[in-house]
Amino acid sequence: MSLLRLDAVARTYPGERRLFAKAASVRAVDGVSLTVEAGSTLGIVGESGCGKSTLGRLMLGLEPPSEGQVEFDGAAMPAPGTDAWRKLRARMQLVFQDPLGALDRRLTVARQIAEPLVIHGIGDAAARRARVAQLLTDVGLGEDLAARHPHALSGGQRQRAVLARALATDPALLVCDEPVSALDVSIQAQVVNMLVDLQQARGIAMVFISHDLKVVRQVSDSVAVMYLGRIVEQGAADWVLAAPLHPYTRALVSAVPTPGRIARERIVLTGDPPNPAARPSGCAFHPRCPVAVPVCAQQTPPLRAMADGRSVACHLAHPNLDRAA
Ligand code: SF4
Repeated sequence: MSLLRLDAVARTYPGERRLFAKAASVRAVDGVSLTVEAGSTLGIVGESGCGKSTLGRLMLGLEPPSEGQVEFDGAAMPAPGTDAWRKLRARMQLVFQDPLGALDRRLTVARQIAEPLVIHGIGDAAARRARVAQLLTDVGLGEDLAARHPHALSGGQRQRAVLARALATDPALLVCDEPVSALDVSIQAQVVNMLVDLQQARGIAMVFISHDLKVVRQVSDSVAVMYLGRIVEQGAADWVLAAPLHPYTRALVSAVPTPGRIARERIVLTGDPPNPAARPSGCAFHPRCPVAVPVCAQQTPPLRAMADGRSVACHLAHPNLDRAA
């Protein structure tokens, strides 16, 4: 049984009201189905605005789906804000992009790490102190930092403190939304390595949301590529990111700097991602797709299973071919 299961999940927001015009609703996530197994890592990639952060919030039950179902550990996700959902939150934690925004500037590091233990009634004061000390060590922060406030820490130290707080309740699932993109490049690798070590040692399932394909490939077992709210390619990270089949995935992968690859191999997409409130007909990627054919503007390609186990939503990707035409 999967730890997390999403079945045809969609999230729609009302559009902005305009004078003399009907407000068009925005489908930020549209018919997403996926699973996350205990102890494994699913990477979610795509350009900004593709719906990946909304998907992360739906996975944690922070907002309810407009359609479809989210299941955690075999049971339907309770509605946000209910007692059942609050109880479950100890088992599912979120790590944000901006550690300073995620921490309370008025509280010491130790108090913030202990906060989830207090909220969920775990341990007495002495047990919590011992747990905080252990967590500080686990994330590579000295105990001398426990009494500091967030502004007295470096960016990397703050993200380690956020991680210690997220791990305090021994979660089964960690959703990390761009967890290192606000950090200095020199610090990113250290924090990612520490995150993976802790995740593997504790058997935590992780959803790693990022626009950085290099990091996603490093940490993920499987990957879902999103475009305008939908998954366009999904499968084992080594297959999807080493030999992408969908033209959009190919363009993303080609943009990752690789030693020895010449610049002309890069696929440059023209135009910005379209407005989610005015989704293009057929394949939503067709206005930017370098290999689009007439049918692409008319028919939406379904997400189909390929021979190697991945799924691809492209008219030109055929189940028995190794690569799209
Ligand atoms: Fe490109 Fe057509 Fe495939 Fe969409 S369905 S990715 S437009 S080739």
